[in-house]
Amino acid sequence: MENLKVLKTESNFKTTIKIKDVTIGDGSFVLIAGPCSIEDYDSLDKIGSLISKNGGKILRGGAFKLRTSPYSFQGLGTKALIDLYKIGQKYNLVTISELTDLSHLEDYLKYVDIIQVGARNMNNYEMLKKLGKIRKPILLKRGPDATIYEWLYAAEYLLSAGNKEVILCERGIRTFETYTRNTLDISAVLAVKKLSHLPIFVDPSHGTGRSEMVVPLVMASKVVGADGAMIEIAEIPEKALSDGKQAINFDEYEEMVKKL
Ligand code: PEP
Ligand code: MN
Repeated sequence: MENLKVLKTESNFKTTIKIKDVTIGDGSFVLIAGPCSIEDYDSLDKIGSLISKNGGKILRGGAFKLRTSPYSFQGLGTKALIDLYKIGQKYNLVTISELTDLSHLEDYLKYVDIIQVGARNMNNYEMLKKLGKIRKPILLKRGPDATIYEWLYAAEYLLSAGNKEVILCERGIRTFETYTRNTLDISAVLAVKKLSHLPIFVDPSHGTGRSEMVVPLVMASKVVGADGAMIEIAEIPEKALSDGKQAINFDEYEEMVKKL
């Protein structure tokens, strides 16, 4: 490999990212939680309140959703981003949402603290080049068919264009297995830690598609040295408009925070 900016150097420098009063990559384990899709202000308010009451710092929520079927709920768009912004302000939470198209970038610059590049856009290199030029942290998910080096090269697009605030996120890869939605590659945490100075998160919600696996795999992520985890929560998971099967409920969330 060339002399890539994404790779660790002998100095053992580690990227740490400070957003408001949250630091990522300093050895602490940071939770990102929230709904798959923002459904309305009030339900997001309840989730924001739950997170802040339990010492959480980062709220996620989808606004523009990339759904397999065009008939599935597509997200509430900019209105959802504005709700996310308001709830973030109300509970002093850092916010994150997935950017699916560069035409929405202006709204993301206004309303969210961290921009997520989803698995489906990991190799959207034009998007990465543009996001490399902005001054906001990027959470870059691993593509479902990306090798670790392909994923690191995607991060290199951001770094080489000037954005040093990059967080990687393992979210499962596609294998022959169908019991789980994806195959969560926990070993990727160890590989990334060995190869790169960037912080790495794990998303066991999309990684497995099964709520009962979420909490144990958050714990596993912490054990292998991840910098944090991103999970989906819902007040009544069965009623969520997207990804209810992989969301944990409020009680499970509180239990998990205590265990961590
Ligand atoms: C998400 O986090 O909302 C999401 C769609 O995840 P992924 O890109 O990993 O599928
Ligand atoms: Mn989801």
